[in-house]
Amino acid sequence: MNSITLKAPAKVNYLLDVIRRRSDGYHDLRMVMQRVNLCDEITLALTDTPGISVSCGKKDVPDGPENIAWKAARVLLDLADSTQGIKISITKNIPVAAGLGGGSSDAASVLMGMNQLLELGLTNQRLMEIGVTLGADVPFFIFKKTALAEGIGEALTVMPEMPKAWVLLVNPGVHVSTAWVYKNLTLTNRSELAKLPTFYGSVEEICSIFANDLESVTIPAFPVIADIKNSMLRHGALGAMMSGSGPTVFGMYQDKETAELARTAIIKDTGWFAAVAETL
Ligand code: ATP
Repeated sequence: MNSITLKAPAKVNYLLDVIRRRSDGYHDLRMVMQRVNLCDEITLALTDTPGISVSCGKKDVPDGPENIAWKAARVLLDLADSTQGIKISITKNIPVAAGLGGGSSDAASVLMGMNQLLELGLTNQRLMEIGVTLGADVPFFIFKKTALAEGIGEALTVMPEMPKAWVLLVNPGVHVSTAWVYKNLTLTNRSELAKLPTFYGSVEEICSIFANDLESVTIPAFPVIADIKNSMLRHGALGAMMSGSGPTVFGMYQDKETAELARTAIIKDTGWFAAVAETL
């Protein structure tokens, strides 16, 4: 085998509590993370000559060593002490810098794919350790389960089984810098964290845990985020929230039809990115 094609899914955050600022500049978080089937497609092809190439064809995504998929490939080629190279082609379907974890998911897919192509036999645990050196959300995409993510996002515990749901993702296209969000966040006293249910029997019960501390920064600056949440709720969503540091908003729906109808109504005449996806 010298080539492989993989799907790299997006994620949404059902919960994002910021616990504290750390001395290294990161924040300790408590997140519940869920993968959804809006996916980038990544083809990896081994080459006989050394070197890494990344082609993506999107102007806001770097093609060279700045691409996180390039960095992931570099680590595994070095680890394999390989004289071969790799050609990486990415079809980006996940909006960029959107709070949907697209880059992290691409990197996770490259780690998993190259582990196979180079027959390295690395365990998922080892791949997750490598992943966190590339980005805090990378291990989650190797874990492949709905997860409680603590620490900077790398300490993962599997969440109880949750019912499948349909998710409407709407990105109004405003530019939100993750660094700016964390810089402007006022930390509240976190002595009492909301207790998480141990059983989720319905989509409503999933929505009952929805909370994202970062909305306190993004919504005052970008009221369109609150407008989209409200529109989703008016159009049948059982819950709606911003994902990660935004600006993408997601609504949870029991069925695909309601989500599709909401999509049509909400993005009418806006030109916004919108997609209906299913939880994985
Ligand atoms: P998160 O939810 O983890 O905060 P995000 O979805 O907001 O991530 P990404 O889409 O991963 O953000 O992109 C963040 C930045 O990383 C962008 O500015 C982009 O130029 C850069 N980048 C590097 N490699 C990639 C990649 N493979 N896909 C997307 N962006 C990439």
